[in-house]
Amino acid sequence: MLQTTLADAPSALPILQLVGVRKMFGGFAAVEGIDLDVREGEFLTIVGPSGSGKTTLLRMLAGMDTPSEGNITLRGELINDMPPNRRPTCLVFQSLALFPHKSVGENISFALKVKGVDAASRRKRALELMRIVRLPENYHDKNVMKCSGGERQRVALARAFAYDPEVLFFDEPLSALDYKLKKALEKELKDLHRETGKTFIYITHSLEEAMVMSDRIGVMRAGRLVQVGTPEEIYGAPVDRFVSEFVGEVNTIGVKRTDAGWEGIDVPGSFVLSPPKDGAQLDEAFVVIRPEYMRFLGAGESADNALTGTVYNEYSLGSRIQYQVRVGEKVMLVELSRARALLAGASSEVTIGWDAADAFTLGS
Ligand code: ATP
Repeated sequence: MLQTTLADAPSALPILQLVGVRKMFGGFAAVEGIDLDVREGEFLTIVGPSGSGKTTLLRMLAGMDTPSEGNITLRGELINDMPPNRRPTCLVFQSLALFPHKSVGENISFALKVKGVDAASRRKRALELMRIVRLPENYHDKNVMKCSGGERQRVALARAFAYDPEVLFFDEPLSALDYKLKKALEKELKDLHRETGKTFIYITHSLEEAMVMSDRIGVMRAGRLVQVGTPEEIYGAPVDRFVSEFVGEVNTIGVKRTDAGWEGIDVPGSFVLSPPKDGAQLDEAFVVIRPEYMRFLGAGESADNALTGTVYNEYSLGSRIQYQVRVGEKVMLVELSRARALLAGASSEVTIGWDAADAFTLGS
């Protein structure tokens, strides 16, 4: 029998609900008009550029700040003014705030000690949690300052789990780590999320991190949540130019409507466009084409749209190659798998093209 997931169950009450949440600092709204339902057990990531309000939002969710307007409810109970220690939530920081003179085990089981749990049970639970975060058993008595950055991050995670929170908040916990370790921990966090079934709310300005781990991503800009959706929705159907450019390298062409059809503003030519998603009647628009949907057109090959330019640069992206093609003043990006690499070198004249169905048309 098929199991119904929580996300599919329409009656599932959101674990956290935000309605009209706003945070003012003096006359400045750092967070504005946030409406958001967080589903139980989901991995939700809030991304956005520096200063867009991510930390302010997370601080209100964790109880370290109160909203100036609006309501935050946890399982239907209003928690606007509930202090952090009374919430069934836990915050994992980038700066780990571990106890430097204590061992790994003591750090992890601190919450249990406060609750008055006896030493033998604390040790048992600490070892269980160490197994979950993949720390070796013999680290139990090791001084936490003798652990590496990645190991300390795991200790911090295990310590957060020891509180047995319903919701875990993560404030850029991986940003101080080197690339390889970060990649490994991203995958482990995703596994941990699945294994524990807890609700994770994560903030980062790395969209790559968000894409790897999240069930849903919320994109913030200037205090507002401009789009919330699955990674595929955010990448494949961005609501505006800001989101489309934030979620990756894209080609953007400005176009205007003429009697003859759509004419390029910043590149020469006329173009066939896919209709805007909301059916808006636009006189000017942006066409957004992801580099992987652009292709080189050889003799006898065609596409709905074509531009002529010169190869300007070529970069290896591992399994793919990215070409920069100069078209007039504009640089367009074309990405091919290594197997289909273009043999033409720098400065060669090329024709690039794309089909209307592979691009999207946005009004702003
Ligand atoms: P980053 O990615 O750089 O951490 P962020 O998206 O988390 O940025 P916030 O830290 O939430 O952004 O800040 C949002 C805006 O609110 C910024 O303009 C910031 O200067 C302002 N702000 C944050 N906290 C305060 C405060 N206590 N007093 C005044 N302004 C604040």
